[in-house]
Amino acid sequence: MALTDETLADLALSRSSLDRVAGERGRPDVLAELLDEPGTLVAEVRGDRMRVATDPTAADGSLGLVLRAPEPEDRTRLAVHLGRDGAGTAYVGVVAPEEPAGEGPDGSSAGAGDPEAGGWLTLRQAGEALGPRDAGVFTTALALAHWHATHRFCPRCGAPTEPVEAGWVRRCVRDASEHYPRTDPAVIMSVVDPDDRLLLGRGAHWPEGRFSVLAGFVEPGESFELAVAREVAEEVGVAIDSARYLGNQPWPFPSSVMIGFAATTRETELTIDPVEMAEARWVTREEYRDLLRSDAIRTPSGISIAKRIIERWLGSTVESVVGGASRRW
Ligand SMILES: [Zn+2]
Repeated sequence: MALTDETLADLALSRSSLDRVAGERGRPDVLAELLDEPGTLVAEVRGDRMRVATDPTAADGSLGLVLRAPEPEDRTRLAVHLGRDGAGTAYVGVVAPEEPAGEGPDGSSAGAGDPEAGGWLTLRQAGEALGPRDAGVFTTALALAHWHATHRFCPRCGAPTEPVEAGWVRRCVRDASEHYPRTDPAVIMSVVDPDDRLLLGRGAHWPEGRFSVLAGFVEPGESFELAVAREVAEEVGVAIDSARYLGNQPWPFPSSVMIGFAATTRETELTIDPVEMAEARWVTREEYRDLLRSDAIRTPSGISIAKRIIERWLGSTVESVVGGASRRW
């Protein structure tokens, strides 16, 4: 990983490799056809988890999704045509009922898993260790499963909606209006002062020691750059001089895309908004390394763009500072 790159490459959840074959979604029976095809690979979502196992072809402990052939029950489940791989194999995401812990398929626990050994894991647990195809399948299926679960009624008339277009659209049964999966943009930014110190903040409801760079949702009528300036001004009372784009990745917790920026300011006096922030502080690189080594600070999740933005400023990975294990959120 080149940490001094102008932009952030290979963000954990931005590596999707399937062709989404959107042109296939309009065929009315496409999901039934795919679920009749034994070569189709089905990715099951239960709650916010998918089943993963150690990839036997990889020596580095990386994980792979446990994909399976279609089962008759899949016909009765919410399903989404996720796309095709380079060999033409189709991938279908299905939403299965969440089972109580200990009653998962094959006797495995449906409620939990070991991030090292596999099982039913969350995307936060598994995302970093999955390859590009599986990280993309998990991210897309999770985002769509949540969208379907929370958009069951028409925003125009209140009647039920039903999935169409292979799971990519919901249509109102009364007025036939069509509703599309939503993705909410949020900006996230490093803010650096003239001494190259990084601004870290702790959210109002975060535990002690949990610090990250600032972030916030883009508002209607606002550009990403204006959102960066507004969020920083609102949360810590500092005016931004510049904001440069770093990269982005989908963040399906539940429905965001995070757009990363590197911002600079000449103002160092912080005025915290107590509604949003518990505390905020400037740190030098040496101070940040000391905080990591003394276990006084928690770094953001390994799959997050926040961690990558901090590491870009730091000039090294968190793991290289603490020697492997770091306390994550
Ligand atoms: Zn309607």
